[in-house]
Amino acid sequence: MNLSHPSELKELLARHGFAFSKSLGQNFLIDEKILKQIAAAAADNKNACVLEIGPGAGTLTQQLAKNAEKVLAVEIDSALIPILQETMADADNFTLVHADIMKTDIQSLTQSVFGSSPFCVAANLPYYITTPIIMHLLESHLPVTAMTFMVQKEVAARMCAREGTPDYGALSVAVQYYTQPHPVCTAEPHCFMPQPKVASAVIHLKVLPTPSVQVSDEKLFFKIVRSAFGQRRKTLCNALSKSPYLSIEKSRIETALLQMNLDPSVRGERLSPAQFAQLSDLLS
Ligand code: SAM
Repeated sequence: MNLSHPSELKELLARHGFAFSKSLGQNFLIDEKILKQIAAAAADNKNACVLEIGPGAGTLTQQLAKNAEKVLAVEIDSALIPILQETMADADNFTLVHADIMKTDIQSLTQSVFGSSPFCVAANLPYYITTPIIMHLLESHLPVTAMTFMVQKEVAARMCAREGTPDYGALSVAVQYYTQPHPVCTAEPHCFMPQPKVASAVIHLKVLPTPSVQVSDEKLFFKIVRSAFGQRRKTLCNALSKSPYLSIEKSRIETALLQMNLDPSVRGERLSPAQFAQLSDLLS
């Protein structure tokens, strides 16, 4: 069954009486070239273990199972379970779990299927849960080596943005702290069934063995980053001294910025992740 063939996918879904759910972000990817690109980026060797979140009807899952040693998929929608059992019937390296990824203990689940092997993550999820999931996976210190995600085009741009550009923000610093992001490709609305309103992009996040910058107090570093971009129009000094997450006097922040040879009226968007780390250490 060629699921990237719209008529075959439609026939399969109709046979199971399946109706797309908007709230679950169900736009299935049907572009074969993009499916192969995601699978190649997500499972880059035959020994790879891949956690797929939100497999849908299995379009990407089939490609992943061809490329990887083991694929574990977590799908929330009970209506998709019999469909996936049919589309993945020939794959003996596939495990399906019916669950909400937001309520799943990812550590014990992945350990039960992959043992202690490191794994990669692939997902084309509703956009409102993508960033929380990425941050959760990065912060939980699981043995994740890489993540390949379909995201809104603007979100991909924010993840890759450098300091001083309009897209640069707290997400850029957080993603670049833990990973090396690479854009893989873009996907226009006609690549999906049904078509979404916005353009999407695939991003590959290679998780770094150690964070890209050294900080003595990681919690303080992220509080500073979040505060700096929470009120973008304010100077960094004002944003940090008035932040609800911090309690640091303005004069200490000014002194720290001067020590870093920065103008005390600088805005947060000018600081690189390494400069945020330096500032965090000076203020800790
Ligand atoms: N991967 C498929 C594809 O590329 O065609 C489907 C992608 S579709 C955009 C999103 C999928 O994520 C749907 O199958 C949806 O039911 C599933 N999903 C949504 N929220 C989820 C959650 N919290 N946990 C697990 N799966 C979820």
